[in-house]
Amino acid sequence: MLNVLRKIVQEVGIAPDLNAVLSIIVSRVQKAMKTEVCSVFLLDKTVQRYVLMATHGLNQEAVGHVSLGLNEGIVGVVAQRAEPINLQDAFTHPSFHYLQITGEERFHAFLGVPIIHQREVLGVLVVQQHEKRRFDESEEAFLVTLSAQLAGIIAHSHATGNHYALGASLNGKLDVRYEGVSGAPGVAIGRVIVVSLPADLDTVPDKTTDDPEAELQAFNQALEAVRDEIRQVAANLSERLSVDERALFDVYLRMLDDNALALEVSDRIRAGSWAQGALKEVISEHVRAFSAMDDSYLSERATDIKDLGRRILRHLQDEVHNDVTYPENAILLADELTPAMLGMVPEGKLSGLVSISGSGNSHAAILARSMGIPTVMGVANIPYLRLNACEIVVDGYSGRVYLNPSEELLQAYGRILSDERAVLDQLNALKELPAITKDGYRLPLWVNTGLAADVARSLERGAEGIGLYRTEIPFMIRDCFPSEMEQLESYRTQLAAFAPALVTMRTLDIGGDKALPYFPIHEENPSLGWRGIRVTLDHPEIFMVQVRAMLRASVGLNNLRIMLPMVTSLHEVEEAIRQIERACHELRDEGYDVKRPPIGVMIEVPAAVYQARRFARMVDFISVGSNDLTQYLLAVDRNNPRVAGLYASYHPAVLKALDFIVHEAHKEKKHVSICGEIAADPGGALLLMAMGYDVLSVNANNLLRVKYAIREVTLEDARQLLHRVRMMHDAEEIHQELRRSLKAFGLTRLTRPATPEKE
Ligand code: PEP
Ligand code: MG
Repeated sequence: MLNVLRKIVQEVGIAPDLNAVLSIIVSRVQKAMKTEVCSVFLLDKTVQRYVLMATHGLNQEAVGHVSLGLNEGIVGVVAQRAEPINLQDAFTHPSFHYLQITGEERFHAFLGVPIIHQREVLGVLVVQQHEKRRFDESEEAFLVTLSAQLAGIIAHSHATGNHYALGASLNGKLDVRYEGVSGAPGVAIGRVIVVSLPADLDTVPDKTTDDPEAELQAFNQALEAVRDEIRQVAANLSERLSVDERALFDVYLRMLDDNALALEVSDRIRAGSWAQGALKEVISEHVRAFSAMDDSYLSERATDIKDLGRRILRHLQDEVHNDVTYPENAILLADELTPAMLGMVPEGKLSGLVSISGSGNSHAAILARSMGIPTVMGVANIPYLRLNACEIVVDGYSGRVYLNPSEELLQAYGRILSDERAVLDQLNALKELPAITKDGYRLPLWVNTGLAADVARSLERGAEGIGLYRTEIPFMIRDCFPSEMEQLESYRTQLAAFAPALVTMRTLDIGGDKALPYFPIHEENPSLGWRGIRVTLDHPEIFMVQVRAMLRASVGLNNLRIMLPMVTSLHEVEEAIRQIERACHELRDEGYDVKRPPIGVMIEVPAAVYQARRFARMVDFISVGSNDLTQYLLAVDRNNPRVAGLYASYHPAVLKALDFIVHEAHKEKKHVSICGEIAADPGGALLLMAMGYDVLSVNANNLLRVKYAIREVTLEDARQLLHRVRMMHDAEEIHQELRRSLKAFGLTRLTRPATPEKE
């Protein structure tokens, strides 16, 4: 059975659309289980009914026409209970609902299993048989296993918009809602621009063109460029290749011939598709055809075709990259939102962000928060490839996205937008004022930076220093490692803008979800892999160039602090300090007036928590990276929307660790700051102040909110709040306590507004 299962899943995985997926499922399952009927019902959210989408064995005319209400029929019961129902004779079941047009009156035995993705029932898979018998345990297990695997594929099919092809389209339905998780708070109303990952055919959006001639020209140019590349590679390798191997390049060139792939793409462009979309369709058809072949040599050719497609796409994207016209209030929608994408939209035009993958703790979301751009992450089911130019509402508070917004919904969100502006005006009045409690306790507020625009934004909001400059961000939006001189210039900008205030520069923290396009790291488990200081210690040449650039940038200003990310062991810190000191000596020998900067470590790995005091002895300051620390303490991938609900910043274990670190480091009289996102939440900020953190470093966008919260309470209020929270054992209970207390402190305006629909 395992083989059958694998084969079905493989076949389904490369099916062109949901229609094809479903028809493969019903026919293969019917055959494998030797039943008479196999059918799939899927939930059509717009009408809240389970629609028969494919069948093998029932009347084909019923497909797309027959449907059952949420609690109707045995299908409804399977969905409602979210568990299989296995019946010898369905007719005797109290919920049996006879659907005449299907012709199912002949079938007695019934086995239905729910199709569930991320706790959501997407539909029901049913097998039926004439004979009165119970399906045996192995049959039931097979169907359950298959359904669990299919759920992801069906959800993804929804995401790529294929369900529209089935007629279950929006049908004029208004306010169609999709759920994700909050990435950055706020509301945005605007028009969608779908962005794809570079050279990724799967994420190319569907679009039509008004100018097929221009698209054809772009396509032909890209094609010619790829032909040149292949000729070049063939020429370079000609000495080292056998005749047979050389012939392979001729095969590639022939594939690109005007009469082959190129002709098919051109035809589609003439029929109205834009070049990238036409290329995607043609390549995927060929890939499917080759993959399905039994001959292993031929099926391997699918990889070559895909590679050729990617190469052409890369050239096409280079051509159009600067050519996109962004509407006012553009909302970027991407399969995987990357920091580089955020920088693509001209200043002032970006109003919202939506990502199919990722969660609120992904780096793209952190940057979005710092830019103040409402963002929803992990909206797995939205048909994003079909949404270019559509008007949508992004609710970054509740993590929801609405398609086809009605007038009422637009008005309701419009009111939230104007309320937000009013709060902002009130907060702006605090710019020049210190973060000081009512009883006179002064807490410095620093900022986290990374994007070029962060500096101006932070100064405007009265930041008193930089607690975390994520140096990897400028590395990410380039196509090779920046030189010492290039780095020096960007570091100097940050240092000069803040001098004499301190600027804490973190050494390169790549890995995890912060990949450099020109230094890919492929790992099974990247969060536990080669990241942060582990990479830079293995690449002293990269580390030294960066440290030298930082030190030279600080000459004459002397407001630099260097911070080491992801440390786990003392020897990593010793080694890094040795290298930084070596860079200082080298530069002095070269005639630069370099001072040794304060060096600190980030505590973001549980091992470091328990050694906080030892680390504190070795360094000049400690900064807590609570984003990663939470991920590692709770064993919850910060980037995975499936477990986003488990990523609890206020988990008692996290708060205990934060409490412990500050007390341990203070025993060594070291300065302790925190630069994770918990500090940017007004409730979190009050708890951290009460714990004794010397500085909070927050994103520029939340700085004034945090300041407002601090100015409205006494230190004693915050300490009492911490005392209450320390007694609690549950993250949700703590959350509620924070909400209640903020209300009691008169800080309701800082909590999220009530959005139009109830939770
Ligand atoms: C953290 O982990 O809390 C942190 C500030 O670093 P980053 O979010 O960049 O990993
Ligand atoms: Mg971190």
